Amino acid sequence: MDFKIVERSLFARIARMVLKSSNVAMVLGKTIHLSGVSRDDFMRDPGWVAHELCHIRQFKEHGYFRFLWLYLVESWRVGYYNNKYEVEARIEGMKHCKYMTPAQRADSTISPTGLPLPTDEKETE
Ligand SMILES: [Zn+2]
Repeated sequence: MDFKIVERSLFARIARMVLKSSNVAMVLGKTIHLSGVSRDDFMRDPGWVAHELCHIRQFKEHGYFRFLWLYLVESWRVGYYNNKYEVEARIEGMKHCKYMTPAQRADSTISPTGLPLPTDEKETE
């Protein structure tokens, strides 16, 4: 898939402050914005990458502003965890679990965020 990664992104940094989180990945269009995690560490985590790539596909499928709007409405209606776009991304990320050891699986959970944007946080340490 065609995508870009921005390290030390200002957008992701703002999200990180709002969420008081150490690691944030945030998708806007075809770009994955990272803060608190390097590109290498992010790419080493297939579940996390698959999750964010799913958001890129959603942007492509629905259109940039339309998807932001749909995501926002869905977040208002049902919250982050039950947001259908997050459920879909979570399933994508989980497909990698069968190749993981139990310890890796325990470490692979991407926590819910309070932001009405396709933003995900993860404690890597
Ligand atoms: Zn997500």
